[in-house]
Parts: sequence; structure tokens; C-alpha cells
Amino acid sequence: MEENKLIKEFYSLVQVDDYDGHYAKDIKDGSYFGMPLKSIVEAEKRLRSEKNAGIAYFSMEYGLATSCYNQFSSQLASGPSNKVPENAVFSNFRVADYFFALHQNNVIDLPIYSGGLGVLAGDTVKTMADYKLPVAAIGILWSSGYFRQKFWFKYGQAPEKMHWDPYTYPGLVPLKNKIKIFLKNEDVYIKLWKYYVYSHEHDAVVPLILLDSNIDNNSQFAKELTDQLYRSDNVSLKLLQRVVLGFGGVNALEELGYNIDKYHLNEGHAVFAFVAKARGLKNDQMEKLKSNFVYTCHTPVEAGHDKFSFDDLNKVLKKEDVDIIDRFGKERSGLANLTLLSMNISSSINAVSHNHQKVMHIQFPRYKDQVQYVTNGVHPYTWMSQSFQELFEKFPATFPDFRSNPMILSRAHELKTNLDFRAQLWQAHQENKASLSKLLEKWSLDKNLFTICWARRMAAYKRPSLILHDINRLVQIAEKIGPLQIILAGKAHPNDNLGFTYINEMMDKVDKLNEDYNKLKIIVLENYDIALAKMLTSSVDVWLNNPLPPFEASGTSGMKAILNAVLQMSTVDGWMAEVTDKKIGAFFGYKNAEGSVGNEFDLHMNEDSAELYSAMEEMIGLYYKTNQRGKLDVSSGWIDMMIECICTSSQFNTYRMLDQYKQLVWKIA
Ligand SMILES: *Cc1c(COP(=O)(O)O)cnc(C)c1O
Repeated sequence: MEENKLIKEFYSLVQVDDYDGHYAKDIKDGSYFGMPLKSIVEAEKRLRSEKNAGIAYFSMEYGLATSCYNQFSSQLASGPSNKVPENAVFSNFRVADYFFALHQNNVIDLPIYSGGLGVLAGDTVKTMADYKLPVAAIGILWSSGYFRQKFWFKYGQAPEKMHWDPYTYPGLVPLKNKIKIFLKNEDVYIKLWKYYVYSHEHDAVVPLILLDSNIDNNSQFAKELTDQLYRSDNVSLKLLQRVVLGFGGVNALEELGYNIDKYHLNEGHAVFAFVAKARGLKNDQMEKLKSNFVYTCHTPVEAGHDKFSFDDLNKVLKKEDVDIIDRFGKERSGLANLTLLSMNISSSINAVSHNHQKVMHIQFPRYKDQVQYVTNGVHPYTWMSQSFQELFEKFPATFPDFRSNPMILSRAHELKTNLDFRAQLWQAHQENKASLSKLLEKWSLDKNLFTICWARRMAAYKRPSLILHDINRLVQIAEKIGPLQIILAGKAHPNDNLGFTYINEMMDKVDKLNEDYNKLKIIVLENYDIALAKMLTSSVDVWLNNPLPPFEASGTSGMKAILNAVLQMSTVDGWMAEVTDKKIGAFFGYKNAEGSVGNEFDLHMNEDSAELYSAMEEMIGLYYKTNQRGKLDVSSGWIDMMIECICTSSQFNTYRMLDQYKQLVWKIA
């Protein structure tokens, strides 16, 4: 009876398209694809209530880790395109590359993200659900995702169009609701979808509304607007992707009847939401509207600030919309600058680390008093490996409620002298490393050899090839101190030619390497994605992070690693600049002068690689003192550092992050 009522309520609140024919198998008996339907009904009611002013969170991309966290079940046969395809490997063990590939036979992650920004948005929304906040998230249903990286052996990356089937993706439902956005020369129809992001306990959800222009009513051009994330080969397309998010998002919230008080722009991509809300308002009303907008900036890199000419804006947008952009977002050069626009229309501006705040103060001196910072974090229950959850469970006196309170991990230091904990910590790490070794079995990855990983977006300032800068030196280190296993992975944006060059350079160096494979293994993995990120951040010995300071706004992959006691080797940049007093690994490399941003293109490769190699010598030496062919020195300083990693992770999570957003940004604490 109760369940019948629940379904009726759900159906009156959520107009699922083709419910009877398709989704009734998965939404029934109080269950939504295996999760409690009740949580959805409560959230949908709350967002519509007059009492609760909600928050709308706008982001171009969301990396939700749907393949490994809060997975939905489905009675429907999932389309074959929703499975992870096999991925190639490129290494200095060429025979294995030739005969084998990696098989991870699970569902793909919802392919609406490209990298760090999306994962941050996903982790944020998951934590909003954990905190039971009245939030609606807005994004885009990218019909061909971002892209699939194929290796073109020895010649780098060949981006391939990716295919997936939203109609059989578990937990994702199309709605009957359609909206329209009005451009200068055409109206674009947008179909709405919903995906529900559940809390850790499954007792709350945040609805994620996804906008889709790939429908019959639209022109071919309009259909392509939501085809591929971050297409930048065509200015109108690039601009209109942002317009769809901003205009479409605002219309969608109205269509669904949500009562929204705060509009949170995760990056300037979403700033056209302000234009949609400001349309037709008088001056003083527009000023007042600013109090409803908050803006998080994520990049200190010049290419990260979107700029458009007014000619390009005038080609596609109506005059009254262009006028608003002109008024709030025109920079001195005469271009429309979305970063500037975002700062001018928001009541709160924040950088994503302390270092990034300093950079923003230099870049935008006029806004110095307004730019605060909230350092990014990661969602602990997404990124903490199973073996570590089990480890913490074995020490309940120290970590009584770690499943709801990740801050409690700071207590790990109490166990520093507990030999049992130290041995079990090492054991948990070795278990993770054994899973990675199993995945890379054909490449003979050995869990008792020192393993370091660099995996992230291949962008120039991140210096992907720093560790390969002097291959002879690497060989010497391996000979002198002990065998080395290096794992590399990452995608370059299809229009980032410099990024491409790095992949080419990497592959070329690995291809030419003629060394004993047992001494030096270099393994490059194709198509870096969330599933690989989870595997790698939890199981290598050392996580390498070597951006050129101060161009990394925050970085988050190292935070995933420390949750799993993986040590860090890093330059002093982004979030890492906040932990230089913590013994969680080694810091090295160039530092920009205080008060100056320096030159993004002067990469300091010679000096910084030399410093990296010296730091590696020390780390590898300590590693082989700690792990002597599988025999553990349980008192080793290495394990002290692993414990310090866990303590540090108690701060670099999305719970601490949202506490600060509540207080400093949304002001609802
Ligand atoms: C966490 C993550 C990133 C972000 O890495 P950075 O350290 O911020 O460079 C990028 N891609 C994927 C798939 C991730 O999971």
C-alpha cells in the first residue's frame, strides 16, 4: 500500500518518459534501480517547497564514479556500448603490448566528464547528498561524451568518438519535460533527463538535471550542441555549449518548479545563467540579483579563461542578452571575458586553494578584497579502497564513526607506535598493489618493487614527461638503488597540440628504451578515466605531481592517494602548498617568486628533473629498506609517512570543503 502511494507520488513529481514501456521494471516496489525511492520523493518535494530556498549547482561536467560508487542495478539489458572497451598498453615490454590489452569488464562511468573539474563536481554533489542539502545540480547530457583515447602506436594519441546509450544507462531517466531556449536566429529545444545522486547512506538524493539538444525538432547544428564536451573547433559551438548550460539550466529549474535561492557557478562556463535571470530587469533589480549568484574559479592558466568577441556573440545571441554581457563582462581589450563576467555578477568569488587565491589576487587586483578560497577536496567514500575501509574497521576504538565522519582519520597518529596497525596498514596497501599487479599481470608488474605513477590531464603546465626527461639518469638510479616501475596515463584535449606532443615524446622515449625490463619498467596506459584513477591512486607506492608552480589551481588526485596511504612526490603548488609541513613524501622543484606568476611556458625541465631524480633516489632507497623482497621492516619511516598521509586526508575531503562553502559562500551554516 505504502509503496503504491510512493510510486504515485514519484510519478506525479517526476514525469518519466516512456515509463510504462521501459522504466517500470526498474522503478517499482519502493525502489529506484535498487535504491530507496523514498529519498527521491522527499528531495523532489523539498525542492518545490516554498519554505526551503534551494541551491542550484551548475557545472559543464560531472565525474560521478558511477561504475564504482553507489552503483544502480537494472533489469534492462545494458547496451554493449555502456561497457568499458578494452584498453591498450604501451610499454618497454613490447611483446606484451602486442598480444594483450586491459579488460575491465564493468559499466562505463556516466561519460559526461573530462577530468579533474568534473570529478570535483561529482564529489561535491555526492557530499551535498550526504549533507542532505536542498540542491539541484545542472549539467549536460553529452551524447558522445568527451572522447576515447586510442593509442596510435609510437605516434601518440588518436582521439576517437565515443558511443554510449543513455536509454539503458542504469539510474538515468528521460523526462517528458521539454524546454526551449531562444537564440537570435533559432529556438533550440532541450530535452531533460534526470540522474539521482544518492547519499552514502542512501537516505537522501541530489537530482542531477541533464540537458540534451540531440532531438528531432532541432536543426543539425542545434543537435550538435550537446554532442561532445568541450568542443572548441568552432566558436559558435563553443559559445552555445555555455549558453545551453546557462539559459537551459535556468529554464529547466523553472519548468520543474524548483524554488532556488542560490545559483552556484562551478567555473565561468555557467555564467549565462545570470544573463537568463537578468533579462528584462531594471538596473537596481539586476544589482540585487547578484546576491543570488556565487562563483568558483578553477584555473590560473590563461587558456582556462573563456573569451569571445562581441561579433561572435552578436551572431548567435539576441541583442538584449549581448547588452547584459557587454555591461558586466567586457574587458579592456574589447572581448567578452567570462571570468570577468562571473566575478562582476557574483556576491561571492572563491579560488580553490590558498595558492590559487594568491594567484587570483595578482591576476585580478581589483577583486582582491572579494576573492576568498576554499581548498578542494575529494569524496572520501568514493576514493577510499575496500581494503582501507576494512583496515579502519579493525580499529574501532580509534576510528569509531569513520563511515560518517572522515575527519576522524586524523586520529591515525595515535596508532603510530602500534605495531599491529603498522603491519596491517602495509598489508592493506599490498593488497591494493596486488590488484594492480593482477591487472597488469602480462606486464609482470611486481608488488614488491618500487612503483611510481603520474596520471592526469596531459597539459603543458603539468609537465607530463618530467620523469622521462633524462632517461639515462633513470637507468642509473635503477642500477644503483633498485628496480623501478613507472606508470603513466592521461588524455590531452583534442585541440591541445602541445598536449599531443607530450604523449608523442613519452612514447618515443619508451620506444627507444633498450634496457633490461626487470630493472626499469615504463608502462603507459590508454584512456585514463575514473576507474583507472581509482585503481592507480589507491595502489602505487608514490603519487607524482609535478605541475609548474603556480599554475595548478588545486589538483585532487593526490588527495585520493593519501586516503589510501600512498606517498606524495610533488612540487609546491595547488593544495600541496598547504601541506609542506606534513611528512607525507617529498617536495622538490622550482617555486615562483612570491607576488609574481612567472611564465607559463618556461617549464624549468632541466633543473626540476634533476631535483626530482635526487628526491627519487632517497625515496627508493628508503622503500627497499622497508620492503626487502616482501619482508617488511615494520618500524620504517616509510610507514610513519603512510600514517601521516591518512591523518592529512582528514582535511582534504569534500566534507571539510562543504563546511566552508556553507559558512563562507552560501552563508547557510
Ligand atoms: C581525480 C582525477 C583527475 C584530477 O587530477 P589532478 O590531480 O587534479 O590533475 C583527473 N582525471 C581523473 C579521471 C580523475 O579521477
